[in-house]
Amino acid sequence: MRAVILRSFGGVENLEYVEDFPRPEIKEDEVLVRVKAVALNHLDIWVRTGALAVKPDLPHILGSDVSGVVEKVGSLVRNVREGDEVVLSPGLSCGVCYECLSGRDNLCRYYDILGLKTKGGYAEYVKVHARNVVPKPKNLSFEEASSYPLTFLTVWNALVRKGNIKPYSRVLIWAGSSGVGVAGIQIAKLMGAFVITTAGSAEKAKRCRELGADMVINHYEEDVVSKVREAFREGVDLVMDHVGEKTFRKSVECLKKGGKLVFFGTTTGSNTQVDIRYVFVREIELCGTYMGVGADLFKISELFERGLLKPVVDKIFDLKEAHHAHEYLEASKHFGKVVLRVT
Ligand code: ZN
Repeated sequence: MRAVILRSFGGVENLEYVEDFPRPEIKEDEVLVRVKAVALNHLDIWVRTGALAVKPDLPHILGSDVSGVVEKVGSLVRNVREGDEVVLSPGLSCGVCYECLSGRDNLCRYYDILGLKTKGGYAEYVKVHARNVVPKPKNLSFEEASSYPLTFLTVWNALVRKGNIKPYSRVLIWAGSSGVGVAGIQIAKLMGAFVITTAGSAEKAKRCRELGADMVINHYEEDVVSKVREAFREGVDLVMDHVGEKTFRKSVECLKKGGKLVFFGTTTGSNTQVDIRYVFVREIELCGTYMGVGADLFKISELFERGLLKPVVDKIFDLKEAHHAHEYLEASKHFGKVVLRVT
């Protein structure tokens, strides 16, 4: 099959397009999907460069966010049939441990992400367990459908499950133009919250407002903490931070007493210092989150089908051009998702 494979860790030149990679063989409880589109995530870059503690065996195939058509199902599979249009849930878990059965599959001891250690969707075909296959929203193109699983699952977990967001919450979402930023603005608005976000240009700020942001701060020109405090003297209820080292302390300083920081992702690094007195005196909650609960993807997909959430695809590249797509994502010029069209 056609695929973009990673032969060794490092720069974009390590992404190699081939036409003769072996097609995956499915087991009786698995599904083979013909990939139509696969969206990029920062995770793809970290896996490519070998920056993570967990590394896949090489050659590897990246790609966590897949849409496609069911090509073949194992003998035990009942939830989908050949020809069904689907999106794949990127969190891979065992399905039978205590955490999985308690609806916290993202805490499964065997947890993996499609494209992390398991071969992903930069290929003509990918296989997953039947539990990872969700119907594609009918109103979305394959490119649009590939754009939301990982980011929206992660943000749903952070804002709704862990952040306990309410219609009266005041929320700060960092980097509104990123994949998770776009998801954060929309989910927070859907829950009725007042949304503040940050953007690096007037054009990006405009697009954040179009997505529903009530207030946008240019983080290059303005001090985010002061602007937040100008708007709400006591601070905000909830902050979602996926930027890491550069923003973590500011996130804590933007919170009101009793506020909560939900955080995941470290695009600027993972070391930070916070004065813990500031945290405990104000009863600030620091809440790490990781991916999301797989079942939520069914509900998120329904919200897309009803038009309550909107996919934001910035640019589509052909599968062969995966290396250019990586360069483009790393240059941070995008607004929303970068997608590879596969078939
Ligand atoms: Zn498990």
